[in-house]
Amino acid sequence: MAARVGKYWNPYVETLSRKEIRAIQLKRFRDLLAYAKSRCAFYGEKYQSIEPADIKSIEDVRRLPLVDKEDLRKAQDGKDPFPFGDILGVPPEDVTTFRQTSGTTGKPVYVPESWESWQWRVEVWCHILWMAGFRPTDRVFIPFGYNVYVAFWEGHFAAEKLGCMVVPGGALDTKGRINKIIEVKATGLLNTPTYGLHMAEEAEKMGIKPSALGIKRMECAGEPLPPATRNKLEEAWGAEVYDHIGGTEPCAWAAMCGERSGLHIMEPFFLVEILDLETASREVAPGELGVAVVTPLGRRSFPLVRFNTKDVVRKGTDGCACGRTSMKIEEVSGRADHLTKVRGVLFTPVSVEELVRAEFPEIVEYEIVVQKEGIMDEISLRVEPKVEMAASALKDVAHRLGERLKIKTNLRFKIQPVSLGELPRYTLKSKRFKDLR
Ligand SMILES: [Zn+2]
Repeated sequence: MAARVGKYWNPYVETLSRKEIRAIQLKRFRDLLAYAKSRCAFYGEKYQSIEPADIKSIEDVRRLPLVDKEDLRKAQDGKDPFPFGDILGVPPEDVTTFRQTSGTTGKPVYVPESWESWQWRVEVWCHILWMAGFRPTDRVFIPFGYNVYVAFWEGHFAAEKLGCMVVPGGALDTKGRINKIIEVKATGLLNTPTYGLHMAEEAEKMGIKPSALGIKRMECAGEPLPPATRNKLEEAWGAEVYDHIGGTEPCAWAAMCGERSGLHIMEPFFLVEILDLETASREVAPGELGVAVVTPLGRRSFPLVRFNTKDVVRKGTDGCACGRTSMKIEEVSGRADHLTKVRGVLFTPVSVEELVRAEFPEIVEYEIVVQKEGIMDEISLRVEPKVEMAASALKDVAHRLGERLKIKTNLRFKIQPVSLGELPRYTLKSKRFKDLR
């Protein structure tokens, strides 16, 4: 394969006009809907009264009821062919691999891939990695055993397709992984934000400055990446740190370019709607928060139509200094199922992460617990200091943190310092928010 040069992975796709993007999206949407209805009993029934040929505008798209994770579970549970059920879009013998969701919010969803469908995901990821500056000269280290989780597999195959040298880092402990980075002279990393911070912490303990390891760029996956955490990672590693958003069911559907300000929606591979949080029936205006409803337009093994990701994002505008023409989202606010009310106040856990990472370098790990005490909601924050601290100093940090949280969230937290190493360290998906009500 001849090496690509230039700033875009696919200059044609990445600089289409808005009109061209919309026309491609609508055509592909009609094709997908017709295919899904003819192949999957689930869609045949759900969209019985809707004719694909009648979908001529985005308003027509809005007439289709949304699909969520629970629908997918029901379409699979106990149905043939096992384990994909009524939502498998290709003959079972065409399935070449599958991934599954982590199951943190219930029974996992099994996502089948045919060779073609998997290549579609890999191609989307090529755009993401190229946009983040990964090039064939990069050596990309992935410090995880990927198991059946999708993002690192996508990143792995896409980095290979780009021409990078890919080094998988499963079956090693953190120290072993840091040594591997040194041994192979890695220049790029794919990891979760939490693990990126953890590796930096471990490197320091080994007497190595993470910024001296030669990592130039890092693509984060698996968890929200608020700006404060991103800054912290950039500082620790002396590297450019990039974010994207996606999931096992829809694939990654928006990602950061070199400007590192907002995320480009991966148009026209996806039709993404950012809808109002109350009714999910109207597109919000730029600058407003909404829930992302995503239709991946090119996958046949697992057709997904108007999938409610429950990710809450702030809608941006089109146009970017990088020259790409796709719409952007400004930030990822966290998952709608994590957006909750505590004592009547709307609360999102990512606001705590932002504050802790930006203003409290003394704290290395934390955990938020909401529970009922009598009829009242109680919210507490367990915090673990980075190094052993005197009781009075720790008390002072707890007090300051409580005051700052009150201003930021309008909630009074009970701050509980814990001893070193008491809180769990997460490698894949962190579970720092526990709602026990
Ligand atoms: Zn851009």
